[in-house]
Amino acid sequence: MTPSAFAPLRAEVRAFVEEQRAAGAFVPGIDSWLAGWDEEFSRKLGERGWLGMTIPTEYGGHGRTYLERFVVTEELLCAGAPVAAHWIADRQIAPSLLRFGTPAQREEFLPAIARGTSYWAIGMSEPDSGSDLASVRTRATRIDGGWRLSGTKVWTSGAHRAHAFFVLARSASLDPAHRHEGLTQFLVRLDAPGVQVNPIHSFDGSHHFNEVVLDDVEVSDTDVLGEVGQGWRQVTSELKFERSGPERFLSTFAGLAGLTANGLPVRASAAGVGRHVARLAALHHLSYDVATRLQANVPAELLAAMVKGIGTRSEGDIAEDLAEWVVDVLDPEVDRLAADGLSRRPGFTLRGGTNEVLRGIVAKGLGA
Ligand SMILES: Cc1cc2nc3c(=O)[nH]c(=O)nc-3n(C[C@H](O)[C@H](O)[C@H](O)COP(=O)(O)OP(=O)(O)OC[C@H]3O[C@@H](n4cnc5c(N)ncnc54)[C@H](O)[C@@H]3O)c2cc1C
Repeated sequence: MTPSAFAPLRAEVRAFVEEQRAAGAFVPGIDSWLAGWDEEFSRKLGERGWLGMTIPTEYGGHGRTYLERFVVTEELLCAGAPVAAHWIADRQIAPSLLRFGTPAQREEFLPAIARGTSYWAIGMSEPDSGSDLASVRTRATRIDGGWRLSGTKVWTSGAHRAHAFFVLARSASLDPAHRHEGLTQFLVRLDAPGVQVNPIHSFDGSHHFNEVVLDDVEVSDTDVLGEVGQGWRQVTSELKFERSGPERFLSTFAGLAGLTANGLPVRASAAGVGRHVARLAALHHLSYDVATRLQANVPAELLAAMVKGIGTRSEGDIAEDLAEWVVDVLDPEVDRLAADGLSRRPGFTLRGGTNEVLRGIVAKGLGA
């Protein structure tokens, strides 16, 4: 099935977004999937059936395809709509719960994710563990009926507003010869006793990520995600959801659209704008191809790494050109978008795996 088969859905989402924007429900934002936290907007999307689209109906979802979800998310991102509140939950928490969660965990969380009322964060990175995630030092110690977690997570996007996060922790002693073993994923409520969320402000003053300290946080056995000791396998299987979507190339699209809405700005050349549009079109097809693989449940990690590597560079290049092209444009809204693009750009190629690491994955995957 080609993307054009979903033209009616695309038109429906586009019309909704335009109506919301015209009504003043939101102003387009840069990086709106990470920075645009608007719980009311998430609930509206939930009411329309545009969240939890791939969650089966028995868990409150809509039993639709990854291809349909792709169309909806692409439209929302192009408009710079505020989708951060539900983004992580809808993108990767729900698929992980479906794959590894217990029936009780699915029943507790999936319907609320589909309604747009359950917000999640990701607790992977630590002060000394980013690319080398197997080196996490957050410790899970066995206690009667559960586990006690201690450690510090960092760069945890949205933790100051989310309800819960997935925590990757070491649940068995480190065996240097098998570093990927002995890791376990836990579901941790962010209001649990012993959890402390400390803000980390970006250099432009914005606050979207945090340090999360876990100080003897007790979780029960029912809060283990999947199998004890299988955390590495589980986390890496999430990456194809985390790295492949249109948010990896559309973070700055609202700026490009705003800048060119009334014709070509003086400093921009048609070729310059065309280059960005051509790259985005190619990335659209690549990312759509990953969505078809997610739907068919076939491996997609390599293509996902390509989408993220090429996509984040492209959206960053748009941010740089916007900053240059905006100079003669007397529009404070476009000014804001251009400034936000530039200040957020450094994060694009870091979050979700750095581009250097992704290039390594692609090279290995292609047999280089
Ligand atoms: C905006 C933003 C949001 C984030 N949100 C979250 C979140 O919600 N949850 C979460 O857990 N984390 C989050 N992160 C953290 C992110 O996943 C890490 O920053 C990232 O994995 C890199 O880890 P690091 O910062 O420790 O850098 P390091 O891993 O220390 O890397 C430093 C440098 O060394 C290079 N390098 C490292 N290893 C290799 C290698 N094998 N080959 C080649 N080069 C290498 C890297 O490319 C990089 O240039 C976020 C980061 C940003 C910027």
